[in-house]
Amino acid sequence: MSENILVTRSSMPPFDEYVNEIKCIWDSHWMTNMGEKHKELAESLKSFLEVPEIELLVNGHLALELTMQAFNLPKGGEVITTPFTFISTTHSIVRNGLVPVFCDINETDYTIDVDKIESLITDKTVAIVPVHVYGNICDVERIDEIAKKHNLKVIYDAAHAFSVKYKGKGIGSYGDASIFSFHATKVFNTIEGGCVTFSDKEIGKKLYKLKNFGIAGKEVIDYIGSNAKMNEFSAAMGICNLRHLNEEIAKRKVVKERYDELLSKIDGIKIGVGQKDVSKNYAYYPIVVDEKIYPGTRDDICEKLEERNIFPRKYFYPITNQVDCYKDVFDAGNTPTAEYVSKRVLTLPFYADLSLDKVDEICEIIGNASK
Ligand SMILES: *Cc1c(COP(=O)(O)O)cnc(C)c1O
Repeated sequence: MSENILVTRSSMPPFDEYVNEIKCIWDSHWMTNMGEKHKELAESLKSFLEVPEIELLVNGHLALELTMQAFNLPKGGEVITTPFTFISTTHSIVRNGLVPVFCDINETDYTIDVDKIESLITDKTVAIVPVHVYGNICDVERIDEIAKKHNLKVIYDAAHAFSVKYKGKGIGSYGDASIFSFHATKVFNTIEGGCVTFSDKEIGKKLYKLKNFGIAGKEVIDYIGSNAKMNEFSAAMGICNLRHLNEEIAKRKVVKERYDELLSKIDGIKIGVGQKDVSKNYAYYPIVVDEKIYPGTRDDICEKLEERNIFPRKYFYPITNQVDCYKDVFDAGNTPTAEYVSKRVLTLPFYADLSLDKVDEICEIIGNASK
């Protein structure tokens, strides 16, 4: 039986490189609480991502949750966001006592439809939390304009957008803050991990305390903080993975081009679009199946692939305003494009070491799935 092919496969450095990186942790016995590796990774990432300020955290979710807390968004305030995302985005809003207001996405790159934002703004709106889906970036300029006009904070969920640049600037330098995820399944990983990028140093000081129980000094607790520190072993993994990142992205590009070449010949399969002035990180390979043209559905393709031990993901399905814990609580019917795409999208196996033979096999199955 052939090996299972999953939607992604975590990047890992050579074993000896990691062992070498963690040796000094045995010398110092300092395993967490903002040690040497934490400092080193923070500095490296700040320059790699070309952002003014950075805080490392234990994961992307707490990065998002604590960033909203750091901006002191008033309880009950409304936050404009999209449901075409990982559940973390919506949870972080709700867990802050805020109310998600769902804006639809656009059909081209699946990010927030900027033409629909303003009609959702009320006197309770406090922030916009847009998502750079699959590494496609939002219309950051329009969002900035709208936010300035209405005095709203903008916090980007940039979990998919590690290393992406827009007009030569790090994507994490747009908005009031951006959060990145370094989960094992992301383009860059620290096993589990994440960061927040921002420009206001005061926000940085607050985040530093919030990730450490709100502790400000030996006998001073300033805030109702959490525990969200990145440990030294994770930071060491990040230091190693960062050395190989450009090479990994270059390999992803080769896989992406093979998919593009083969899938663009199949009618009814929509592949990703390029974006102007955006450097890509090739984070995911989503296809959208139009059952009016393609002789079958997304689910048919998924089944055919699974029969051959290939496991794509229906990512993002269901949309977050239709999951059990939210569907009866928030408006689930106002985002028809998100609903349309979600029912037809499939993210195909995609990672640096995916062989081109496998890509050929996957595309052949998709080409024949209807027959
Ligand atoms: C992965 C992800 C997160 C959460 O990050 P974790 O590091 O897994 O906590 C948030 N938003 C999006 C869009 C994600 O894909």
